[in-house]
Order: sequence, then C-alpha cells, then structure tokens
Amino acid sequence: MAREIYIDRDECTSCVQCADNLPEVFAMDDEDIATVIDHEGAAEDAVQEEIDTCPGECIHWKDEAG
Ligand code: SF4
Repeated sequence: MAREIYIDRDECTSCVQCADNLPEVFAMDDEDIATVIDHEGAAEDAVQEEIDTCPGECIHWKDEAG
C-alpha cells in the first residue's frame, strides 16, 4: 500500500517548489498552500526528494508524523 503524505499547512511558505517539481502529487490550493492531490502520483523516492528539499520542512510521511 502506498504511503500517505502529510503537509503541515502552517509551515508551508507557498514557494510552489513541490507543485512545480511533482504536479502529479502536489498542487497549490485556494489559499496558496500546498496540498496533496494524489498520494500515489509519483514514486516514493521522488516524493522523498520533495520532503528533503521543501524550504518549510513541512512535507512528511503520515506514518512518520508526530
Ligand atoms: S515545497 Fe514545501 S514550502 Fe514549498 S509549497 Fe511545497 S510544501 Fe509549501
């Protein structure tokens, strides 16, 4: 089963990096905050790359959050 992605909205800087790099997975919502549109839209290592490079450090795997 694919892992779910969690975005901490309060920490998102609206930089659009994740949505630019992986538009199959991430998009910006009405408030210019990143949101997940498809948890299985890309390979885990591609998602991990966005987790590792997100300037707000606000993308997480749900099973590792908290
Ligand atoms: S890369 Fe991080 S800070 Fe930038 S839009 Fe995506 S979630 Fe927000």
